Amino acid sequence: MTERVCVVGAGIAGAGAAHVLDGVDVTVFEMDTVGGRMASHRRNGCVFDFGANYLELGDADLESVIEDAAGDVAVEIEPPVWQFDASGEIAEGQTPQNTRWTTKEGLDGIVRAMIENSGADLEVGVGVTHLERLTDGWLVRTDTGEREFDAVVLAVPGASASVLFETADWGAPIRADLAGALDTIPYRTMDSVALHYPFELETPFFGLVSEEGVYDVAWVSNEGHKPGHVPDGEAIVIVQFGPGWAVTHPQTSPAAAAEAATQRVVELLGDDRLTEPTWWEYQRWGDAVPTRGIDDSLFERALEDDLAIAGDWVEGIGRTRAALRSGLRAGRELL
Ligand SMILES: Cc1cc2nc3c(=O)[nH]c(=O)nc-3n(C[C@H](O)[C@H](O)[C@H](O)COP(=O)(O)OP(=O)(O)OC[C@H]3O[C@@H](n4cnc5c(N)ncnc54)[C@H](O)[C@@H]3O)c2cc1C
Repeated sequence: MTERVCVVGAGIAGAGAAHVLDGVDVTVFEMDTVGGRMASHRRNGCVFDFGANYLELGDADLESVIEDAAGDVAVEIEPPVWQFDASGEIAEGQTPQNTRWTTKEGLDGIVRAMIENSGADLEVGVGVTHLERLTDGWLVRTDTGEREFDAVVLAVPGASASVLFETADWGAPIRADLAGALDTIPYRTMDSVALHYPFELETPFFGLVSEEGVYDVAWVSNEGHKPGHVPDGEAIVIVQFGPGWAVTHPQTSPAAAAEAATQRVVELLGDDRLTEPTWWEYQRWGDAVPTRGIDDSLFERALEDDLAIAGDWVEGIGRTRAALRSGLRAGRELL
């Protein structure tokens, strides 16, 4: 009987698993920050979403999970997403206008609320370093000690999962099969830049998305359209370069990336005031999104040993909704 479950990783996949593991004693270990790649940064009274920029589900079942698990904090981003083309022309385009969610405290607030509302014990700053299969259940070793659980939901990115499978004490052939499968998953690198300005920015759209592959910038957003993110009289623009930019700029400096992002924003929005941000932040996401997944039979075989795998790499789709769906499935199948 599954009574004590360890969820490794507090991204949206881990949060989805915690949400459905109702009536079970759940402990979530997170080595870094809650939210994972749904990352929000905070600076000088501003909040900005620096990994995935919003949560978009486009699926009634997943919407109802978010309503139930984080409806107390989730807020809708009302203005639409438009497109731009290779010449930098902006148009309303064909982008689906599903509901896009964040929270006033940042996108990571959705994940935090899901875990808090699930009643799970959350231990932040505790990384899982080793897994050992017991006759019944798992011995989970962390930075701070070791504990036994009846089952594990492994909801970490592919690279971390690969290391844990490589080193696990787990005699079943599935261990090596999982490690091997993970090593073949390609990831895209993405660069994010935040630009802050001392004035408000009016745009009829919240975000601009590039028509696939036509420009080095993939995404631009006006964070001022997100409730609670930017104080009155200020603006934050997020620029995400597409994967091609990291290929052509493998050794970029943060300052060079910020300058390139600033230039693109000035060109795209046609506003010379944007040439001088008051401050900026830059981050390269080495393993931003997987572009392929694993064979579904691996999920089923791991489950036979009380281990459920979750995360965008399980579905092979680098999207928040895929990660959530996989976490829900992992939790439900364990139950
Ligand atoms: C720049 C960027 C842009 C994106 N744009 C979009 C977008 O437009 N639309 C979209 O839908 N998706 C987008 N994504 C993808 C989306 O963010 C991910 O698909 C989704 O958040 C993955 O969730 P996850 O729970 O699977 O993994 P993660 O969010 O990575 O969570 C895994 C967690 O596990 C923790 N962890 C790792 N190892 C351990 C360990 N050993 N012990 C304990 N904890 C551990 C990590 O710290 C992390 O918090 C983007 C991602 C990035 C980076």
